[in-house]
Amino acid sequence: MQNIIIIGNGAAANSAAETFYKIGSKDKVVMLSREREPFYSPCALPDYLSGYIKREKLYIKKHTVYPEQQVRLLQGVEVHEVDYPGGRVRTSQGDMSFDRLILATGSRPVMPEIPGSRLTGNFVLKTIGDVEYIMRHNPKHAVIVGSGNIGLETAVALAARKCRVCLVEKEQHIMPRVFGPAVSAHIQRIAEENGIQVMTGEEVVGVQGGERVQGVETGTGVLPAVDTVIWAVGMKPDTRLAREAGAALGDLGGIAVNAYMQTALQAVYACGDCVQTFDLLCGEPILSLLWPSARQQGKIAALNNMGYDVPYEGALNYITGEIFGTSYISIGNNVPDTRPGSSIVQQGGPDWHWCYHIWEEKIVGFEAIGVQQGLSAMMNLIRKRMTIDRYQAILHDPCLRNQAIGLLPAQRYLDHYPGQVKG
Ligand SMILES: Cc1cc2nc3c(=O)[nH]c(=O)nc-3n(C[C@H](O)[C@H](O)[C@H](O)COP(=O)(O)OP(=O)(O)OC[C@H]3O[C@@H](n4cnc5c(N)ncnc54)[C@H](O)[C@@H]3O)c2cc1C
Repeated sequence: MQNIIIIGNGAAANSAAETFYKIGSKDKVVMLSREREPFYSPCALPDYLSGYIKREKLYIKKHTVYPEQQVRLLQGVEVHEVDYPGGRVRTSQGDMSFDRLILATGSRPVMPEIPGSRLTGNFVLKTIGDVEYIMRHNPKHAVIVGSGNIGLETAVALAARKCRVCLVEKEQHIMPRVFGPAVSAHIQRIAEENGIQVMTGEEVVGVQGGERVQGVETGTGVLPAVDTVIWAVGMKPDTRLAREAGAALGDLGGIAVNAYMQTALQAVYACGDCVQTFDLLCGEPILSLLWPSARQQGKIAALNNMGYDVPYEGALNYITGEIFGTSYISIGNNVPDTRPGSSIVQQGGPDWHWCYHIWEEKIVGFEAIGVQQGLSAMMNLIRKRMTIDRYQAILHDPCLRNQAIGLLPAQRYLDHYPGQVKG
């Protein structure tokens, strides 16, 4: 029996621990977690902030589940150092030895060092503690800096608490990494109709105030009477332990792992937000920083750690959400592409829009708002990396048609593809 230590208690760490259990590992699995909470969903934190759900609803696992899954969870334990050659971790509660290690240390929110960003009233949103800190502050007029998924959901949550909200985005449209301008314009319209002020093409350059936040300086003016600034400008992989132990980092700043989630150090694996991975569709290195990627990577890390031989297929961008009752979705790569060989097919109405992005005859991205049908079929089509011609050929071949049954609901979108009608 070997000692396995998993550092972390988030999506990646729990997926790894569950995999050890499901596969019937006889090894001793210990999880070390800085936080004192059992496993909870950070994705649901905006709903807790808005008051839409209670604290208990955040939890994915109860404390009792860990022993049932033969895992020893030590909470409130900070790992200070990994002594790799010695096979030990130094923690706030003493040293522990390991034979194999899984780093699932996640990510930390980026907090830019600009004038005023340390004044009382500046926040980030990553943990339950962060949300409760914001709640205690009781914001009345907040500026949210950054309009990615977290920024947007935080803006909506604060608006639901009757707080005046201004969302500031430095790019020309909101959610610029997941949506093109058309879907983004619908999201902005809905946000504004519900009282959220949106400023695009605008950068926050300073926060004004004595001890507490009183205003926000942008490149073109001042937003006065602000009492709260929430920084939602991105997450950074938490790599300190790995780096100091001698593991290599990738160019984008995550822990470098191979397709088996193995770091440069023998018997040390890493998974989730802390790693640099690769895009499923184009193979480029990326920081995925998404829940489904963390879960899948945790599973792959555990399987390979146990001696199986299972490569990771790569991360697919996937975001779904809802803004004041209207749902949106982004799958794959939806940043407009100007390379030859790329094109866009789209349709829209006053309160809906869908769009897919094509690169060399394959659908590489799908984004939509106010649309419900055929979404998982589009997801499967993108995942399969099949050319549209190939899909059409399968569909029209009576022997092969069965293979495409799950893809059929995508036809409503493919009917608009100008290059189709083969077969
Ligand atoms: C507000 C919010 C909304 C989100 N919404 C979405 C969404 O809609 N869709 C989506 O796909 N993703 C979303 N995400 C991202 C998603 O939650 C993350 O990708 C995912 O949780 C990453 O899991 P992880 O296990 O890799 O890391 P984390 O959840 O960051 O967990 C890392 C764990 O390691 C612990 N740890 C780190 N260092 C140490 C140490 N030295 N000692 C002890 N413990 C340590 C931390 O305390 C933490 O428990 C959201 C994130 C946030 C914050």
